[in-house]
Amino acid sequence: MATEHTEATIKIQAKDRHFMHPWEDVTAIGSEARTVIAKAEGIYITDSDGNRLIDGPGGMWCVNVGHGREEIVEAVAAQMRDLSYFSPWSATAAPAAILAERLAALAPGDLNNVFFTTGGSTAVDSALRFVFFYNNCLGRPEKKHIISRVGAYHGSTYLSASCSGKMLEKANMDMVEDRVHLIQNPNPALRPAGMSTEGFCDQKVEDLERKILELGADKVAAFIAEPVLASGGVIIPPEGYYQRCHEVCRKHDVLFIADEVVTAFGRLGHYFASKDVFGVEPDMLTTAKGLTSGYVPMGALFISDRLMVDIKAAGNESKGFFSGFTYSGHPVAAAAALANLDIFERDALLDHVHNVAPHFEKRLQELADLPMVRDIRVKGLMAGVECCLDPDKPDNERDMNFLLEVDDICQENGLLLRPVYSSAVLSPPLTITTKQIDTLVGILRLGLETAWKKYK
Ligand code: PLP
Repeated sequence: MATEHTEATIKIQAKDRHFMHPWEDVTAIGSEARTVIAKAEGIYITDSDGNRLIDGPGGMWCVNVGHGREEIVEAVAAQMRDLSYFSPWSATAAPAAILAERLAALAPGDLNNVFFTTGGSTAVDSALRFVFFYNNCLGRPEKKHIISRVGAYHGSTYLSASCSGKMLEKANMDMVEDRVHLIQNPNPALRPAGMSTEGFCDQKVEDLERKILELGADKVAAFIAEPVLASGGVIIPPEGYYQRCHEVCRKHDVLFIADEVVTAFGRLGHYFASKDVFGVEPDMLTTAKGLTSGYVPMGALFISDRLMVDIKAAGNESKGFFSGFTYSGHPVAAAAALANLDIFERDALLDHVHNVAPHFEKRLQELADLPMVRDIRVKGLMAGVECCLDPDKPDNERDMNFLLEVDDICQENGLLLRPVYSSAVLSPPLTITTKQIDTLVGILRLGLETAWKKYK
């Protein structure tokens, strides 16, 4: 933010030089004086200079129940007093056991086996390792190829990053290349002129089947997909796409992995979006973020009973899935997740999302009158407002810089945004009210209009 900073802020910014942040440009390490966030309450964050901002990205798609929830603080403190840690190999403890049972009851289909992880990347990584393990157990060592999509983001471990389809972020990084294949994502805005959304959906489903047949169904192990591509800019698939992809997977004995790291825990108005929004019971499901609303790190991989039965049926000898983490089912994280779920129930948060989401969509769609707004994508309480300064001469870099300028102006006026390429991405805490939505959209409009004057 282009404001005068207090001495305390400047001191923290100097120390921050040693904090290597995610996505850090190492040639400019320490050169950026970042906003220092000091406090947060509800949908607001306050920086160390005392400026209060709406938390537009909800932390990082994660602070679903909002900031400063005493119940979670109390649950975590109480759990730390009782039992701060134990080895999940040798024993169990109440929080993770109770949480696993509660999650299995909420999850779609027969996803009754909950494998706790430290976050989303490790949930995806574990899912992929389980896929390889599954096919080894079934005597199909060749069936190891994974299909993912351009624009997808699945994490930052070697394997999960390899399955991501955000090309810019693969620069200078090694990836698992021989087993991962990308197909186009189903962004309806990218359909050729004259093609209907239905026709485009047919084409995208055919892309998946063609890729499976090209590689050989006996070689393709899994298809991994976010129900709504989040970090890819909030890409909402056409009606029926997700369900039909699932049918194609079933037809060719390919596992369907739903990456619900973002879309679970109320973001789309349900605990899980796969079945309740898109009508699919996946074979595996990964989640994190809203599981604890970001208060402490935790992720989870759900595995279908069916896969366990298949493994058992494949032979008599025991088959250990030799994978896991020191912090699998961490009692403190599990206590936070349980308190988080209690808040969802007590505050009827899913109903609240159903009530405010139409207003969120309506108000954001009103931005379509602005000349630089090219596409507005909204589902539940997640949104991407895509900008293009000159549709006749598209220039991604200029559009991205424009969005950074919009973010600066919005911050000066009380809203933190998340620019993703040429889209402003929003996923506010689910507790946001219609009045707060009005304020958010008003500041975004101001940011877009002011930056436009400079750029046009
Ligand atoms: N999968 C999806 C869909 C995500 O959006 C993310 C993170 O944004 C991840 C996986 C990785 O999660 P984490 O950052 O908790 O490792």
